[in-house]
Amino acid sequence: MNRTLLIIEDNEQNCYLMRFLLEKSGFAVISAEDGRKGIVMALEYRPLAILLDIQLPELDGYAVAAELKRHRELDCVPIIAVTSYAMVGDRENILAAGASGYIEKPINPDTFVDEIIRYLPQRRGEGK
Ligand code: MN
Repeated sequence: MNRTLLIIEDNEQNCYLMRFLLEKSGFAVISAEDGRKGIVMALEYRPLAILLDIQLPELDGYAVAAELKRHRELDCVPIIAVTSYAMVGDRENILAAGASGYIEKPINPDTFVDEIIRYLPQRRGEGK
């Protein structure tokens, strides 16, 4: 069973916190600090899901999501946006760019992993 999650996030502290919480719950975590590296890693590792920051240097999260969606081999890999943008419309924009879901920063350590799990592909044979 693929338990690898890819985090694309330029903020070291956020990345560290997400990694810590996810690894504690049994996930393997790989990470990239910019969108280009993230896209390369997504294609190389085919993670279970991609956690995508929106405010990234050079390519922002919208551009990264759009690029990831151009690769059909990643069709089954949900993109979960993780962002401090809380303005009306941002949620719609990132969903339109191809994200399956949206988690707001600051990350709540008590609920973060459960929120992520909600967006993961359902395994065959599991109920809902
Ligand atoms: Mn950022």
